[in-house]
Amino acid sequence: MLSIVPKGTGWIEVICGSMFSGKTEELIRRIRRAQIARLHVKIYKPLIDDRYSQNHIVSHNAQRIPSIPIATPQQILEQAGDAQVIGIDEAQFFDLSLVDVCQKLADQGKRVIVAGLDQDYLGRPFEPIPQLLAVAEYITKTLAICSRCGNPANRTQRLSKDPHRVVVGAADIYEARCRHCHDISDAKESV
Ligand code: ZN
Repeated sequence: MLSIVPKGTGWIEVICGSMFSGKTEELIRRIRRAQIARLHVKIYKPLIDDRYSQNHIVSHNAQRIPSIPIATPQQILEQAGDAQVIGIDEAQFFDLSLVDVCQKLADQGKRVIVAGLDQDYLGRPFEPIPQLLAVAEYITKTLAICSRCGNPANRTQRLSKDPHRVVVGAADIYEARCRHCHDISDAKESV
C-alpha cells in the first residue's frame, strides 16, 4: 500500500478483520515506522478495552505501545493538537461519531490509522467500521487462521453463550473461524 505517499493532505487508513488477525500488530508496525520518521504521533483507544493495559495498545503477540484511553471520539479532536499521525485501536467500541472525527482529523492534514473488528460475533457488519471503510483512502483486511480447519479466517467465534454484542475478552472466549466453520446456531442477540 501507499506506493505514492500523499503530500500536503491528510487521509484515513483502516485496518480491519476478525479477532487474532493481527490488526493491532499491523497498527503498531505503522506507528513505529512513523515514529522512526520522527513524526509526531498520538495513539488512542477506548476506555472499555482494559484487557491488557489502560495506557498501552497491546497486540496478542505482546507488542505494546503507549496509548491514551478515551471515553468518546470527540476527545481525540480536543487533544490531537499538532500530532501528524493519529492511531486509533479497537474502533468497534466507539459509536458512529468516530467517522466524523476521523474525517475532521484527515481534513486537518493528519494521517489517521484506524484498527478494529469489521464483523461482530454473528458475522454482521460492526459499526463504525463499515462507514469508515466507505470514506477511507486505504483499506487493509487482515485474515486470521481458522482454529478448526486452518483456512484463512475472517470471522470471530464466541465460545460463551453471552448474547450481548460487546463482550470484552480474548482467547478465553473467542477464536477465529472461517466462513464454513463459523457457527451461530445457538446464538441469540438480545442487546
Ligand atoms: Zn474453518
